Amino acid sequence: MTVWDDLVGQDRVQEQLAAAAKDADALVTAASGGEPLDQGSKMTHAWLFTGPPGSGRSTAARAFAAALQCTSPDRAMGGAPGCGFCDGCHTSLIGTHADVEVIRTDLLSIGVKETRDLVRRAQLSPAVGRWQIIVMEDADRLTEGAGNVLLKAVEEPAPRTVWMLCAPSLEDVLPTIRSRCRHLTLSTPPVEAVADVLIRRDGIDPERAHAAARATQGHIGRARRLATDERARARRAAVLKVPLRVADVGGCLKAAQELIDTSTEDAKQLAEEVDAKETEDLKAALGGVAGGRMPRGTAGAMKELEDKQKRRKTRTQRDSLDLALTELTGFYRDVLALQLGSKLAIANTDVQDSLDRIAESSTPAQTLRRIESVIACREAMDRNVAPLLAVEAMTMALRAG
Ligand SMILES: [Zn+2]
Repeated sequence: MTVWDDLVGQDRVQEQLAAAAKDADALVTAASGGEPLDQGSKMTHAWLFTGPPGSGRSTAARAFAAALQCTSPDRAMGGAPGCGFCDGCHTSLIGTHADVEVIRTDLLSIGVKETRDLVRRAQLSPAVGRWQIIVMEDADRLTEGAGNVLLKAVEEPAPRTVWMLCAPSLEDVLPTIRSRCRHLTLSTPPVEAVADVLIRRDGIDPERAHAAARATQGHIGRARRLATDERARARRAAVLKVPLRVADVGGCLKAAQELIDTSTEDAKQLAEEVDAKETEDLKAALGGVAGGRMPRGTAGAMKELEDKQKRRKTRTQRDSLDLALTELTGFYRDVLALQLGSKLAIANTDVQDSLDRIAESSTPAQTLRRIESVIACREAMDRNVAPLLAVEAMTMALRAG
């Protein structure tokens, strides 16, 4: 076992990271102070991991963080850092290492205030480890102001600080920031490799693992959820029925409403799970509950939390709708493959009958227009068009073809 085990189908990236970890290791071992990295080193202070959703951006960053914190005695014998079982590796991988901070947001954006806190932290020397590492999973969500705060930190990093930023693509990150990062691109892992991981690591039975990997086309997280979560399977089945339901206007409107209802339900469920506890925690922290009177400043803090919870709800609903749109696109992509007699592997083999029916009753041009209308729906939501309106426009366009 090594720290790289969870990286699936990313051999080239893994090689680069392992080489960087080796240089980083030599540097820490040779120097006790704060010597800067030299130009020729494979190690650097700022990394940008890009790749399609599910390709394992944050998995790669965490594995790299673990390799940098590896304290295995084997290293001294010339072994590569990243053994996977020493304390440094292990705590980094499970998220408890004192010098590895993983920032994951469930909000639509990362603001200036949070970023300032991070930058302050990044200036510290490592407490116990070899490097002070900050992994930002959603660097594409930095507001422009926050990006500028981060820029200064990336430009003049502390000698033992490493930033690892993750984003879907280069275009999602401010040019000033990305130009200061070393860039690694992850690709969508092959379906077989994903199935393999589900079987090997998660103990999922082979048939189900293959079906989930195929249906999600190399998205590891979604494949795992599909393989393990009954509700996710039911939801996907409902989405894949939409193409058959848009035969008349009534069906279009009903299908749209249901897609919205499902996403609202998802957001509500998450809110119920976390909001109440968060509110209680904040009240307890403010210390006003027992006495009955809330101390000064309470109203402001409560308002801030409410705003955050509201933004999170919006984001959850968006993510849920986004997933449905991805599944719909996949359906029509399969239809197109059938219509063109393409050798492309069909993803949604479990709804082969529906695929055949739609493929036979429409033309490739219609299928392309349908795919475009799904993309247009996503773009409309990006422009803050009300979700129901955007989804209705889409189902109506699916009907017209
Ligand atoms: Zn180790």
